[in-house]
Amino acid sequence: MTDQFNQLLVASNRLPIVLKREKDSWRMEPGSGGLVTALTPLMQKHTGTWVGWPGITDETDLLAPMQDFSSQQGYALHPVHLQAEDIQGYYYGFSNEVLWPLLHGFHSKCNFEPEYWSTYTRVNEQFAEELVNISEAKDFIWVHDYHLMAVARGIKNAFAERNCCYFHHIPFPGPDIFLKLPWRQELLDALLDFNLLGFQTNEDVINFVNTVKSVFSDAEDSFEQGLFHIQCAGRVCKVGAFPISIDFDFFARKAKTPEVGAITAKLKNLHSEQQLLLGVDRLDYTKGILERLQALRYALEHYPDLRGNLSLIQVLVPSRQKVPEYQYLKEQIEGLIGEINGQFTEPGWIPIHYLYRSVSQEQLIAFYITADIALLTPLWDGMNLVAKEFCASNYEEDNVLILSEFAGAASQLYQDALLVNPYHVGEVARVIRRAYYMHKSERAERMKRLRELIKATDIFSWLESYLEAAFEGKSGTGRQERPYHYLSGTCSNRT
Ligand code: UDP
Repeated sequence: MTDQFNQLLVASNRLPIVLKREKDSWRMEPGSGGLVTALTPLMQKHTGTWVGWPGITDETDLLAPMQDFSSQQGYALHPVHLQAEDIQGYYYGFSNEVLWPLLHGFHSKCNFEPEYWSTYTRVNEQFAEELVNISEAKDFIWVHDYHLMAVARGIKNAFAERNCCYFHHIPFPGPDIFLKLPWRQELLDALLDFNLLGFQTNEDVINFVNTVKSVFSDAEDSFEQGLFHIQCAGRVCKVGAFPISIDFDFFARKAKTPEVGAITAKLKNLHSEQQLLLGVDRLDYTKGILERLQALRYALEHYPDLRGNLSLIQVLVPSRQKVPEYQYLKEQIEGLIGEINGQFTEPGWIPIHYLYRSVSQEQLIAFYITADIALLTPLWDGMNLVAKEFCASNYEEDNVLILSEFAGAASQLYQDALLVNPYHVGEVARVIRRAYYMHKSERAERMKRLRELIKATDIFSWLESYLEAAFEGKSGTGRQERPYHYLSGTCSNRT
């Protein structure tokens, strides 16, 4: 299947690199994460090029570090140089103040500034131009995420024939939410120029298909071999669910290393008297951190047996620190943590251990292993990779996963995670108590099945199933998910 294209071009907002300033030049290190790991061998095989913004507006001295990167990693980087005002309108503006809140269902947080939309389309055109200039008809262009939803339209406008596909990493809401967007028709129309649209879950797919049908009365959908085919204005666009995942074996192996073992032993020793709950999130209003803290307070107020016996470790990774709304959210979270700790702390026990920083991978995996219960309660999340990493790291299979039903991961892990509605603090509190008292045999059975499922649908199988859909027009990933007929969508022709 991968013989069906020559060059592979991947486009994302940011290049997969970390830039470090060294005196008057830049040092470039490869970024980490499952997506980069999965794509690297394919990029190496197909003289790949990753196209994206390098993360700085200073474009003078990146050529040499990029060449070094290419020779070390076996694929090339192609920078898209953006000016400060582009970043303002396209990234901070349209991507972060419009698409991010809207597609997570927070339409009241959107700032529908018309200038943002024009900068977004201009920058998407710029990405498209660069992609056209460095590619040929037999190449495969794979665009990632909401920053670049209009790239295929730019390629079409340049009259270039390219196989251009897209993967959407965040949720896609139903028409009731999406239709609030002033540029709904233009954006959907641009999306339909991609040959394949990949979403995280069947729910997202149903939402997308319903939204298209509510905007374009002539759109028709059919469902064949695991994929929707949307016919609209003379084009056919395939649409399917491809739940992204992690490199399971990496986490399972890393969890058993002496470095992680040493940190785990120390943590277990410090907390031998209590069970530990764990929350790991970027600072973001979609993550439901305030609601989670309220649920913990409810649990401690209503279930005195938990006091002194259960502590939450909350890792909060700094994010969008210059945005006032995020600064305010941080203040609210810290205020509430202070209140709860003030209300319940006793000598020798504190309800919440709070870390506002990112932690090393070894430390993170040690937290995954030590925690008895993961408490991951986003209000809406594309996938939530932390949930999968937690399970993959738990080779002793003695831990419990509490997961929001609004995390994309719930569409796969729904049978053995304890699902909760994160808005219902009383229910979350009850489920925390249930997890606390869950017998170790039930914990082991559930965790074993979770780990088997995540191993079988790891990042490499995600990649394979996406390529199969792009080149063979079929998808088998749906079998791992809640099937379409469980959902309330009203698409026609579903099998
Ligand atoms: N993570 C990290 N450093 C930390 C805590 C978490 O790099 O200190 C990683 C974690 O391993 C996971 C990612 O951040 O891969 C978070 O992914 P997720 O899908 O859960 O949420 P996102 O931040 O993408 O919304």
